[in-house]
Amino acid sequence: MTSFQELGLSDGALGAVKRLGYENPTPVQEQAIPAVLQGRDVIAAASTGTGKTAAFLLPTVSSLKRLRRGPRAPRILVVTPTRELAEQISFVSYKVAKACGQYTTVLYGGKPYGPQIRELRAGTDVLIATPGRLCDLIQRGVVNLGSIEVLVLDEADRMLDMGFLPDVRRIVDLVPEERQTLLFSATIDKSVRNNLAGLLQDPEVIQIAQRGETSKIVDQYLLPVAQSEKPELLKCLLDEKGHDKVIVFARTKMRAEGVAKMLKDAGYKVECIHSDRTQGQRRNALNSFRKGKADVIVATDVLARGIDIPSVDYVVNYDLPDMAEDYIHRIGRTGRAGQEGFAVSFVSGNSLKALKAIEGLLGKEIPVMRLESYDLDMSILGTTSRKGKPKQKKGASKGKKQPAKYNYEGWADLRNGKGKKKASKDGAEKGSGKKPKDGMRPGRKSSGKATKSQESSRDKKARGQASGRTRSMKRPKRSGSSPQGTRRPGMKSSGLRGRR
Ligand code: AMP
Repeated sequence: MTSFQELGLSDGALGAVKRLGYENPTPVQEQAIPAVLQGRDVIAAASTGTGKTAAFLLPTVSSLKRLRRGPRAPRILVVTPTRELAEQISFVSYKVAKACGQYTTVLYGGKPYGPQIRELRAGTDVLIATPGRLCDLIQRGVVNLGSIEVLVLDEADRMLDMGFLPDVRRIVDLVPEERQTLLFSATIDKSVRNNLAGLLQDPEVIQIAQRGETSKIVDQYLLPVAQSEKPELLKCLLDEKGHDKVIVFARTKMRAEGVAKMLKDAGYKVECIHSDRTQGQRRNALNSFRKGKADVIVATDVLARGIDIPSVDYVVNYDLPDMAEDYIHRIGRTGRAGQEGFAVSFVSGNSLKALKAIEGLLGKEIPVMRLESYDLDMSILGTTSRKGKPKQKKGASKGKKQPAKYNYEGWADLRNGKGKKKASKDGAEKGSGKKPKDGMRPGRKSSGKATKSQESSRDKKARGQASGRTRSMKRPKRSGSSPQGTRRPGMKSSGLRGRR
């Protein structure tokens, strides 16, 4: 393996590597750094968490001529799609630039213009910006891109997905043609090739991860579950698999808020992040999670790309994403920088199509995870043939009690006869251990194991669905861990809102 010293970086950059705590270059760094130092344009397809940021910052800042302090236009421009990414890149850039005697400025929306303008006027070397705010400031005449020597387009595929192509084109038009261009992206698809690849000259192509290829150390599992039972399953999962550093992805902002509230009510330390939260709230939530003050962070896809949170134990897809590619980004939040991790996806009847698309992209079937404390309804997947991956052999876990860390008072009553939690040793939930087929839809085959009474409740359920009624509508209202609570419109915020 090549060492950082052998890659040709300046002493300043090597000092930054030390300060960042990196021992050896990651594959994308090993390949990109020499090419960038040679002045080549680079297209790098590397999945998130592979060390892309240092791969473009170390060599570019390393070879930037040191100027005397004073007003000057930026010479390196990094354009990245989201505020979080801009902040994250700036965090690495401050360290690298400082070690190399350069200055960094970061520009993104949701922040007052004044300080950003003052910083620009004072002079900077490395400019990191989101397209929207950058174009705003260009319009106000405070950004001069005429001295840019290196243009970095980070998360290029995401920028296109988010409709930033016109902004990116405008920015590129203002950057000198004589420049080095580096394009980094988790996936280099047709849209990236058609719209952006033409901006590069004879680029060195670095392919670390193929489209659909996921980090090898992220084990992936499914948990089939009826929509209405997701809250209960999530709590069982966190209880059984641990909840030290878990990211839970929900499909919408409203659902994310609901899940966060439900977990909070159940006693977990939870943060929530989505695009309706202010930049300050998002940063506080991420910091609290990073520092371990929160066990779980519930997020929409705003967190899925590129956000760096080291040592995430596992990722839960409470809802599957609408776009299969987002699945790859979501699960990339765990198993980062050589660590192990796993991802669990809740699959209900209405997400089977999304599951098919994801498995098509991965080119493999995702196995079912077996839980000790929860009986799964395999019929939701329309099959009983999927192989689960039990941690222990059937029966081995019998009688093993989960640590009663949280107050689940009242759960047993609520589950009795309806819920999915497995029967405890003392038989307190006898009769409720076998899962009634609540997820059963009309016309679906059962596993054939349901009792008569269960069958009749299933029939009732099927009739309820056929008449447009949902199970949650029939359920009594409960306090605390109410699954309905996750979906109540106009629900109160979890209290984080308004915190600046
Ligand atoms: P990135 O892909 O740039 O978001 O980086 C993902 C994570 O990998 C961050 O936590 C980095 O600090 C870490 N990282 C980057 N390069 C290295 C390296 N050479 N050795 C160890 N960790 C690294």
